[in-house]
Amino acid sequence: MSQGDSLGERGAAPAPAAPPTLLVVEDDPEVRLVSTALDANGYRYLCASTGREAIASAATNSPDVVLLDLGLPDMDGVEVVRAIRGWSKTPIIVVSARSEDSDKIAALDAGADDYVTKPFSVGELLARVRATLRHLSYLGEAVSSPRKAPARARFD
Ligand code: CA
Repeated sequence: MSQGDSLGERGAAPAPAAPPTLLVVEDDPEVRLVSTALDANGYRYLCASTGREAIASAATNSPDVVLLDLGLPDMDGVEVVRAIRGWSKTPIIVVSARSEDSDKIAALDAGADDYVTKPFSVGELLARVRATLRHLSYLGEAVSSPRKAPARARFD
């Protein structure tokens, strides 16, 4: 019945199948490309344009996936990966113009889960997001479940 709803705007009521929330960290115009694609595909997303904002938003909003540019104005994206990994297992997909092996290795070893080089195709990026969400569901994380409260901080 309710097909064709394209906007991720659902007020405060948790829908039965809440769309995953992504945090898009990007200071370049590509952010528009990404956010348009996410909109069109029913994802909810938050944006951050600096490393500090990204870390704060990841801590406050518990996104399901982080899409992270490495070239940020205030700090290197690899540092953002390390900071988020200090307390969170949220999947991080790096989206970067840096295509050297050493950059990929540094980002992945710092805790990133995947690495997409710019220029990227939106189709590939979305497929990687889907793959990441699939892995989460294999691991039993509550993505797309009714209650997506931050219920994962109790593993001591
Ligand atoms: Ca950038």
